[in-house]
Amino acid sequence: MPPSGRNHGPPVPGAADPRQPQGSRRMVEHVIEDRIRDVPDFPKPGIVFKDITPLLQDPHAFASTIDRMAESVRGHSFDLVCGIESRGFLFGAALAKDLGKGFIPIRKPGKLPWRTAAESYELEYGSDTIEIHIDAAPGGKRVLMVDDLLATGGTMSAALKLVQKVGGVPVACAFVIELSILAGRKKLGDVPTYALVQY
Ligand code: AMP
Repeated sequence: MPPSGRNHGPPVPGAADPRQPQGSRRMVEHVIEDRIRDVPDFPKPGIVFKDITPLLQDPHAFASTIDRMAESVRGHSFDLVCGIESRGFLFGAALAKDLGKGFIPIRKPGKLPWRTAAESYELEYGSDTIEIHIDAAPGGKRVLMVDDLLATGGTMSAALKLVQKVGGVPVACAFVIELSILAGRKKLGDVPTYALVQY
């Protein structure tokens, strides 16, 4: 049985073709949504964790997700795709490969081996820091920002600042999931923001 949080819909082969009719495109979104599993009280009580491992495990759903993300940003020109540790790497690197772009990682502190720039941001309790290599996006390189999920927007807003700090220009943000109720996109200012599935 395929892994899934809810219904086990059949995969839709070739479903991400932008030329296909609206109805089948909606089916693709349904397949993607169907492969996102809700895990209550993880990593702590009160949080409903959106688990994307069933989506990664299903080759059709994973491929459709990358195709749909590519389609959502096709109006933008960029040189690099930036993924945020760690689930942003999975979608960002696949997207970069498909679009023929380079990939740059934003990581947790102490993970990048060379010289880094850092940015801290507030969490509900305490703060967090992310880092980027100082030569990741030199000379005004245009960067597409990718993460799996937009919640409060704190992480992506810090990531936008980091890319700017090292000379890059963030042109758009792409997510698989947006928790709309948290209004995270307000923190991203006027950077165009796309998400495939909204809760
Ligand atoms: P935020 O900074 O609040 O927008 O949170 C976004 C980051 O936290 C992303 O890197 C997500 O992977 C992770 N995240 C936040 N909330 C959830 C959730 N409910 N389920 C899964 N990941 C989450």
